[in-house]
Amino acid sequence: MNKINRRDFIRLAVGTTLAGGTLGFPGLLLAASPKVVVVGGGVGGCTAAKYLRKLDPRIEVTLIETKNAYTSCFMSNEVLSGDRTLASITFDYEGLKRHGVKIVIDRVSAIDPVNRQVATEGGERFGYDACVVSPGVDFKWEAIEGYDVEVAEEIPHAWFAGPQTSLLRRQIESMPEGGTVAIVAPPDPFKCPPGPYERASQIAMYCKHHKPRAKILILDPKEAFSKQGLFRQGWTQLYGFGTDNSMIEWIGGAGGGKVESLDPSTRTLQAEVEAFKADVINIIPPQKAGKVAFTSDLVDGDWCPVNKMTFESSRHPNVYVLGDASNAAKMPKSAYAANTQAKVAAAAIIARFNGQDPGDPTFTNTCYSILGEEHGISVAAVYALDKGTNTIEPVKESGGLSPMDASPAQRKREVTYAHSWFQNLISDMMG
Ligand SMILES: Cc1cc2nc3c(=O)[nH]c(=O)nc-3n(C[C@H](O)[C@H](O)[C@H](O)COP(=O)(O)OP(=O)(O)OC[C@H]3O[C@@H](n4cnc5c(N)ncnc54)[C@H](O)[C@@H]3O)c2cc1C
Repeated sequence: MNKINRRDFIRLAVGTTLAGGTLGFPGLLLAASPKVVVVGGGVGGCTAAKYLRKLDPRIEVTLIETKNAYTSCFMSNEVLSGDRTLASITFDYEGLKRHGVKIVIDRVSAIDPVNRQVATEGGERFGYDACVVSPGVDFKWEAIEGYDVEVAEEIPHAWFAGPQTSLLRRQIESMPEGGTVAIVAPPDPFKCPPGPYERASQIAMYCKHHKPRAKILILDPKEAFSKQGLFRQGWTQLYGFGTDNSMIEWIGGAGGGKVESLDPSTRTLQAEVEAFKADVINIIPPQKAGKVAFTSDLVDGDWCPVNKMTFESSRHPNVYVLGDASNAAKMPKSAYAANTQAKVAAAAIIARFNGQDPGDPTFTNTCYSILGEEHGISVAAVYALDKGTNTIEPVKESGGLSPMDASPAQRKREVTYAHSWFQNLISDMMG
């Protein structure tokens, strides 16, 4: 007699139960609840956990996260201008609990894809039928000589919203009038491609009122950056960009903007051509997938390769890697991208439990940047999978950039849209 394995059993059980439990073992079938373990309670992890439960409440979902509240990086640049507090971007996991998600506060040390187990630093082990991994990014600390975890306590990256965001804000507030803030932008790919430039804008927004002779210098290894035309136009209108008195200056790769080292004692950055001294320094280091992706053998190079139809890891079956940690080219590493990928993965996991093929995925992304109190810009796209190349391509004629030379009323509306996008995303992922 053929023995059925566990996966076949789950497929049979869930599929049959959904179909009305006609096999004649209703008690046994109803007792079968597949287990999904979610690693990381950020955008990708929360959205996947919530939507798995919404799509099939019999699935046991356990989300493991290091912190008992999530502080969103999106909108954290507004903390730097003083427009919002960290508390206004910090959210607990009570909403997910109401959806029946079990929350465990611990750090995952590694995933064992062979025995389908997740191990935590707290010494616990969780078995799974499917594992969703959305740990975000980690830094390549070795990339800029003189900059490391300890130095970052004084010279913040503030690229994970939290105490470092507050520290950077305090440093900007106590900077003397006429002082310089230097922002070191990372090379592609990195989390939130417009983020460093929105950050410069938000700092300028504060300085315009409180330190009008301040300078914000962006040192960048890249030749170009996201929404560049719109940023330059906004900076020209708001901060005198391109004039001798511009509050914001951008030095790109061709101008020697790549920073090689930092001397923390003199607050001096050595770039390719020149050295720059600044009163406040914000270094955003080059990035790679979060550490647990490396300890769990999910990476190829810096990022996690996935089948973009489902976001299942190309390296290990039944493990789904989402959000910033995944190689989801050509989608950007953004909150909206992680949210939409999580829904695709949740639907694919349910399809697998039911012995069905996943549907063809469609993805969306919208990203707002706020340059001034009444000046917002955005980029939006709908994406579809090119199965031949396993690439997620923008659908022609979909989305696009907000228009150049938009009216003041339109720019003001984009700020309102940005804030409502934020509320909607938080509510969708964990409300
Ligand atoms: C300044 C800034 C502004 C941004 N603005 C925007 C914006 O306007 N729009 C937009 O769409 N995106 C924006 N982003 C990008 C957005 O924040 C990320 O793309 C998004 O958070 C990615 O989601 P994620 O699930 O991949 O990772 P995250 O949201 O970073 O979540 C990862 C979670 O995993 C947890 N974790 C990591 N390792 C472990 C482990 N071993 N065990 C347990 N838990 C673990 C972490 O604690 C964290 O909570 C911004 C980013 C920054 C830095």
